[in-house]
Amino acid sequence: MAAVRTLAPGLPPGRLEQEFTEHAPLLTAAEAAAEANRCLYCHDAPCTAACPTKIDVPRFIGKIATGNLAGSARTILEANLLGYSCARVCPVEVLCVGACVYNDWAQRPIAIGRLQRFATEGVIGSGRTVLAAKPRRKGRVALVGGGPASLACAGTLALEGVEAVVYERARWGGGLNTAGIAPYKMPAADALREVAFIESLGVRLETGVDVGEDLPVERLFADFDAIFLGIGLGGDSRLRVPGEEGPGVVGATALIERVKHDPTLRFAPSTRAVVVGGGNTAIDAARELAKLGASVTIVYRRRREQMPGYDHEMRQALDEGVHLLLERAPVVVVRRDRQLVALRVARAEDGRPVAGTETEVPADLVVVSIGQARLASFVARFPGVELDGRSRIVVDPATGRTGNPRVYAGGDAVNGGKEVVNAVADGQTAARAMLAAIGAAPAQGA
Ligand code: SF4
Repeated sequence: MAAVRTLAPGLPPGRLEQEFTEHAPLLTAAEAAAEANRCLYCHDAPCTAACPTKIDVPRFIGKIATGNLAGSARTILEANLLGYSCARVCPVEVLCVGACVYNDWAQRPIAIGRLQRFATEGVIGSGRTVLAAKPRRKGRVALVGGGPASLACAGTLALEGVEAVVYERARWGGGLNTAGIAPYKMPAADALREVAFIESLGVRLETGVDVGEDLPVERLFADFDAIFLGIGLGGDSRLRVPGEEGPGVVGATALIERVKHDPTLRFAPSTRAVVVGGGNTAIDAARELAKLGASVTIVYRRRREQMPGYDHEMRQALDEGVHLLLERAPVVVVRRDRQLVALRVARAEDGRPVAGTETEVPADLVVVSIGQARLASFVARFPGVELDGRSRIVVDPATGRTGNPRVYAGGDAVNGGKEVVNAVADGQTAARAMLAAIGAAPAQGA
């Protein structure tokens, strides 16, 4: 193999993310038992139906109620190998918890995500075995990108005894789980514990490997039976307005990654931040800055009901002091002696700025969260893999197979940017299809 295994270094101390408190801390044993005993164990389990990975919710809750935590974790992980991070980052309000029958009676729904975390907390990264891999058998799969889609795919393959090697360009595995989740939901260290759990299933993770540069794509085709592309999205899109170049303007995912990883990042307490965008990443960035003491305004070019971010997240942001400026589009980043002083915005109609309506929002920091670029030129290195009109990889949704029968794909690169649980579902679907293609029958329920 051309690549050299690079052990990921530990996270440095003194990172800003360590200053956040969890918004949903780990339940105590007594709290978990009381909550589990509220579950009605519904026969039709709408909570399970609402889960993209179809975790058997009443079954794992029932095992918590009887004190069988290892069994509960097994139930979760057999359906979703990243059940630990999904417990912490899933928008449960619009998935399992939103489907709980208690909502129909105007009563508090079961805290499914928090119970799921409680069940898996003691297993992830602990070295305890709740899933056993089959003996090694034929088949080798390379996975490009070390995020949730690849990890779920690789773990499923490894459990069936198929060799799975994940190549990650960054220093740490986990993709957005490690670099992009708001710290009050899940810190990077916990994401890395989950990466270690996936490695414990027999997956080999090679970090610091840039496929296409350090490791030619041709080598992947020569050395492996199949390839999975879990490459996510590219860098933050730019505003493309005058004044954008220079200090004080940063992409939202780049900012969040620095909050989580970079011990040198600090903000003055009086920082005035403007976040441009209306998606979940924009809301996350705004909430993080507000919790760090900044005065934060979200600027969005359409109406509140048109914001692509979750309404419950936006309501929490408003409760935390974030201001919301709707139907405004940025037109100029205003600088004085190169120093950022404001974002000039115009009233927007149908998302477009109207001339002669400009006002200025004072700013020391502008955070751009209007989407991420696609990795079209990278995908072009894989013959037969096609993109749609929005530069998303085209796959057969039943198998994750691309136009090249040896190449599969899943996660954000395919869906354009959804939840971790969707990426996990994609990765597991592709793994099952690969197992069939290389003649290794999948395990029951895998
Ligand atoms: Fe339990 Fe609610 Fe699911 Fe019913 S819908 S099984 S009460 S979590």
